[in-house]
Amino acid sequence: MTKNISRRDFLKSSAVTALGLAATTMLTGCSSNNEPTETNEPTFDETVEYLVLGGGIGGLSSAIEAVDNGCKSVLIVEKQGYVGGAAVVSGGILGGYDTEIAKKHNVSVTVDQLYEEQMREKKYILDPELTRLTIEKSKDTIEWLMNTIGVPFKDEVVQKDGYGTYQAIHLVDGEGHAMREPLEAAIAARPEIEIRLKTRAKKLITNDEGDVLGAIITQEDGTEKKIGAKAVLVATGGFNANHDLFVSTHPANRVFQTSLMAGSTGDGLIMATEVGAGTNSLDQLQVYLREYNNPTSQTPYMYTIFVGTDGKRFMDEKRTAQTYNQEIKDDVIAEYGKTGVDYFYSIADEASLAMMGIADAAKDHVGVIYANTLEELAEKASINKENFVAEIAKWNTFAANQKDDDFNRNTFWFPISTGPYYALQTTWFSSVCHGGITKNANAQVTRFDGSVIKNLYACGEVCVVTNSNGYTISNAITFGRIAAQHVMSQIK
Ligand SMILES: Cc1cc2nc3c(=O)[nH]c(=O)nc-3n(C[C@H](O)[C@H](O)[C@H](O)COP(=O)(O)OP(=O)(O)OC[C@H]3O[C@@H](n4cnc5c(N)ncnc54)[C@H](O)[C@@H]3O)c2cc1C
Repeated sequence: MTKNISRRDFLKSSAVTALGLAATTMLTGCSSNNEPTETNEPTFDETVEYLVLGGGIGGLSSAIEAVDNGCKSVLIVEKQGYVGGAAVVSGGILGGYDTEIAKKHNVSVTVDQLYEEQMREKKYILDPELTRLTIEKSKDTIEWLMNTIGVPFKDEVVQKDGYGTYQAIHLVDGEGHAMREPLEAAIAARPEIEIRLKTRAKKLITNDEGDVLGAIITQEDGTEKKIGAKAVLVATGGFNANHDLFVSTHPANRVFQTSLMAGSTGDGLIMATEVGAGTNSLDQLQVYLREYNNPTSQTPYMYTIFVGTDGKRFMDEKRTAQTYNQEIKDDVIAEYGKTGVDYFYSIADEASLAMMGIADAAKDHVGVIYANTLEELAEKASINKENFVAEIAKWNTFAANQKDDDFNRNTFWFPISTGPYYALQTTWFSSVCHGGITKNANAQVTRFDGSVIKNLYACGEVCVVTNSNGYTISNAITFGRIAAQHVMSQIK
């Protein structure tokens, strides 16, 4: 930042876009702490007790919890034409312990086991207090979804590849879609809640002390309104659909396809940092496999190996099954740098596809390349033939000995020896941002120095996510509800 220009002048500079400012703020750690965006005596077009920015699972849970704790008026502003956010397109996969379902099936896992696994797999970068809190509440979260909201769950608790090693996974019956109607019904049953769709939160309003007093919103017809509130919740989700912001947090992010969630443009991250919120872990992403030409695919990958166009493997493919996958990012970035293309191939043979139950449909699947010999497959897919044939031979030795001397893969062994052979162009996409604004155990937004921004709360993916696979929805609900409880304890 230019040192002779005051921050106010800097803000006015036409050369600095709001996005650039946000990125600069986030990356340098400078904040507009105590910079008033309003006078001490703002006038409002409307006032409510609780203003919720964003109608994803975090915002909806918080609004419902606020009313159930005595709140008289909640306004949810949602910039899209529907509520539910990422949760209603999610897998509906939630970890938890000692739930009614777990007890029925005599499944027992402890908070300590789940907590330690999350911390270990995330290499101890998570906030211990907030991570433990989400795990501790995970039983209550699932039962709240079932009993208060009416979300249907399957009558089973499973261990799921990619979601930790414990039998703790609860599955929404009908995946994320099945959450939408119960959530809408729960909102409709609480007339204290108003949802304003196609309405975008634009800016937070603060006084000279930096306390949040409300927000400016832009409604569907383009009119702006100043909404005053005793407390404001930022629940606007992640930022990986905002390509420029996404790449500004880590240049290597350019190689990752981004989320299909059009609302995840980092608005809350920008608004909150403008009033001084701290940020952390912005370069941390959860990445998943995706067919290169099919952004909605859920690529089966159990019995596959990955090779680049150079014909060589480049990672332990089974690391996709871990809950921590920053390391995967690093491998993929290195691979793309080496091969010069932003995809690799998932390789399987007829027998391995049969083991995954997808052999019948494979040949007709868009994007699948197949051939009767490895050489022919390499030619069709423009893979280095010599390297590829040698690599498959090496892999078959590893599979026979169940020992991967190159990348230490330790599971899902299979030979690639039964033609036809298959190659599918594959890449990674970022499904969840793991970095964001900082908050405390009351879900109050904090500054870089740890102090609280009064009346400002946050939950879900706009925050530094304190838990990963199987606990992301859980995390948003936990802190949405905690925020509401704290707000209501303050109002009362
Ligand atoms: C494909 C997919 C599958 C997933 N599967 C799982 C799973 O099985 N289990 C799990 O735990 N997690 C899963 N996740 C992650 C999880 O769904 C999300 O992390 C979680 O739902 C985020 O909730 P949220 O309320 O914080 O944000 P979001 O769901 O992103 O909601 C934020 C809302 O705010 C709105 N908004 C944004 N900016 C503004 C603004 N300026 N004004 C007004 N509104 C705004 C957005 O339109 C959006 O509706 C999955 C994610 C994806 C993408």
